[in-house]
Amino acid sequence: MYPWFIALHHKLMRSAAAQSLHHALLINAKPGMGKHEFVHTLANDLLCHAPFNLTACGQCQSCLLNNAHTHPDRYVIASDKQISVNEIREALVKLQDHAQLSQRKVLIIEHADTMTEAAANALLKTLEEPTDNTYLLLTVSDIQRLLPTILSRCEKNSVTAPSAAEITSWLHETHQQTVAEDMMRAYQYAPLSIATALLETPETNYLSFKQDLGAIKKGQMHSVSFAQKWHQQAYQCLGWLQLMLQSKCLNAPDDASRLHYLDVSEFVRIEMQRVHHQGINKRLVLSHVIDKVMS
Ligand SMILES: [Zn+2]
Repeated sequence: MYPWFIALHHKLMRSAAAQSLHHALLINAKPGMGKHEFVHTLANDLLCHAPFNLTACGQCQSCLLNNAHTHPDRYVIASDKQISVNEIREALVKLQDHAQLSQRKVLIIEHADTMTEAAANALLKTLEEPTDNTYLLLTVSDIQRLLPTILSRCEKNSVTAPSAAEITSWLHETHQQTVAEDMMRAYQYAPLSIATALLETPETNYLSFKQDLGAIKKGQMHSVSFAQKWHQQAYQCLGWLQLMLQSKCLNAPDDASRLHYLDVSEFVRIEMQRVHHQGINKRLVLSHVIDKVMS
């Protein structure tokens, strides 16, 4: 289990052991924190017949079925698109049956903030009058996007990003990697995003972005080829530029340069909104911004 989820896991499993676990748990954490893995581990632990130290034993019938992804009392809704009312209804019908194996039933709803309004409404009754021993585990990346009616009926559990020191020691232990603070900031201190950027996408991560900016400054790269390489990540690049400008602003030696960085930062912010528009030429926007920022 990721270290930043351990305290929450402990709290929830202790409540479960004391028969006082809330039937609808909302897990709120931004992308790149590992909430998917967390809710699935939690489901295993809740369904296990003989948890040891609040953790699934791995050997009982329930654990074996969970490991084979064939547990009859475990339902998952995980859509890349919107969650439809039909998906919710289908799951709720199944939940009404008696638990076949464990005493408990678990429904995981990932990205619960993508439920349509009708889907959310279909879920409301179950949230108000849950069937016995049924647990709903909802995950969200942005709690603000969830309907207030859903929000008010769930127990909210927000997991904040770990500190720089925690990320450093986790990356070192699990991936033998070291990472600078600005790299962490570029990925909003989301440990899995940082690990992916370091290990899987070195060509297009923040470090590579910084290197390319350095190359432009030295005249070894043209803004057009820069835009050619980075246009698919234009929005993220502009966000990184803003971060860099903010830090330059904070460390500016005098008011004049501080104002200058504020100005440029505001310009980048406006361009960031533009790249969201359909049909905009992201290459053009990016090379234009780079020319202005590096001038
Ligand atoms: Zn077990």
